[in-house]
Amino acid sequence: MTLLASLNCAGELHVIVGGKAPVAAIRAKAILAAGASPILIEVSDELPKTLEGLVEEGKVKHVKEEYSKTLLQQLGRPDVDNVVDRVFVTLSHTELLLKKQVSDDCKRLRIPVNITDSAELSTFTLLSTHTAGDFQFGVTTSGKGCKLASRIKRELVSSLPPNIAEICNRVGELRKQIQEDDLEEVGGHDDDAITTSKLNSLVKEFSMTRLQQATQRSRWLSQIVEYYPLSKLAEISLEDLKEQYRQDKEESLQRKRQKLQKKGELSLVGSGPGSVSMLTLGALQEIHSADLILADKLVPQQVLDLIPKKSTRLFIARKFPGNAERAQQELLEIGLDALQKGEKVVRLKQGDPYIFGRGGEEFNFFTEHGFPPVVLPGITSALAAPVYLNIPATHREVADQVLICTGTGRRGALPNLPEFVESRTTVFLMALHRIVLLIPHLIEEKGWRADLPVAIVERASCPDQRVIRTTLEKAAAATEALGSRPPGLFIAGNACHVLTKKGDEDWTVEEGTLEPKLSGFLQQLSHPVEGERIAAEPLTPDLKVPVVAK
Ligand code: SAH
Repeated sequence: MTLLASLNCAGELHVIVGGKAPVAAIRAKAILAAGASPILIEVSDELPKTLEGLVEEGKVKHVKEEYSKTLLQQLGRPDVDNVVDRVFVTLSHTELLLKKQVSDDCKRLRIPVNITDSAELSTFTLLSTHTAGDFQFGVTTSGKGCKLASRIKRELVSSLPPNIAEICNRVGELRKQIQEDDLEEVGGHDDDAITTSKLNSLVKEFSMTRLQQATQRSRWLSQIVEYYPLSKLAEISLEDLKEQYRQDKEESLQRKRQKLQKKGELSLVGSGPGSVSMLTLGALQEIHSADLILADKLVPQQVLDLIPKKSTRLFIARKFPGNAERAQQELLEIGLDALQKGEKVVRLKQGDPYIFGRGGEEFNFFTEHGFPPVVLPGITSALAAPVYLNIPATHREVADQVLICTGTGRRGALPNLPEFVESRTTVFLMALHRIVLLIPHLIEEKGWRADLPVAIVERASCPDQRVIRTTLEKAAAATEALGSRPPGLFIAGNACHVLTKKGDEDWTVEEGTLEPKLSGFLQQLSHPVEGERIAAEPLTPDLKVPVVAK
């Protein structure tokens, strides 16, 4: 195997040893075509016609001397100590000894030498070539036969587009143009303006824009050359190539823009009553994929601690008595803004989003603004709390229906409270703070039994869960006596006493939950939120929105 190369011979002086064979003229022409000057060493005057012509024209210098090594050291260019640049031997078959001698001399003098029909004595051989303008094509069989090489070459050439030379020129021109443009852009930078302090940002900007653009363009050209059918390359004009480049650039910009214009996604997700163990896998996945999480004040810390990405922003609704509407509006607007920027927003709601969570209103708001949410249910405190309290909400022959209702009506008024049903378990949400009002109303107006078993639970499923077991008539006194730890709810109905019998005392209190502590893999999921929590701040008149980056 040999190393194929294309030699730059411009200005060189090449020696041809032996001028009688027609091949000497062929060599002389090839040398001339490569921009070098041929010197013929031939003692005889009888040269083939063409060669003679070239000598007469002064294109070939004829040195009428016997070959000697010294000539190789004298005929060359002065700037390379007069040693000739390359030697072509075109002697006849019979002059084998001389060929060998020239070969040896050249090798000693480090002059590349080619000997016709004698690959083994040559340090380089010639390819069977095809030339069309700047396009050149060469075939070698590594000395196995120049006729064969020539035949193969003809076959290959016939498969090339006839205007291959033009293709070369066009692509070359475009390449040059791109390089010039790039140089102009890159060179347009004012180096003097670079100060050390600016250097980093400048380098960043520079490398991200101009340099990137420049390489993009070269890469684009390579792609065109690589993937266009040759026939098309042959027809395409420089203008077409430029237009194609412009279009491709525009398309890729559009794709980028589309990416940027990625439609925002929203999910409305229930986070369960408090414990991480009550979070659904769906909710966890949503938390993990969010750019922005909008949470309620009630969403417990343990759940917030699962927000994983440093880049995920967390906003906690600033709802406090008296500003619910404004705080809600603020939250919706922050969500909408992020959605319009193409972000993934997760609206995390305590318990289940559709149980007293204004989930339906939020669904409507976002849908009207073009972002219909995906809604994922959560475990509602109304149904989880009885379980934590060992109260079977339905139980054969005791309770055959469950009612979830609120103790808070519109604008603080009492809601429309349910009539008493002996076989029903009723769960009152948002009721503890007005239990003193509610209970007399239930007993006196709605026919509820005063001695109905009741359980009050605060912070159900959280480590500081507290349970008060009592009766309807004593529930108000119990909460007054014990104070409150919101959020809490109360459960009323015979089911409260099915599995847990109450003694004669007015009420009993149980602290804590049997909920297992976060361990193992649940702990691995936890990334405690560091820094300021914004839920503590009431909404002030100036709407400075404290979106906290995690
Ligand atoms: N969507 C929620 C309810 C929101 S209304 C859900 O499905 O659970 C808020 C009320 O829920 C509170 O006033 C309280 O009555 C109740 N609540 C929420 N979490 C609670 C918890 N961990 N323990 C007891 N009550 C809770």
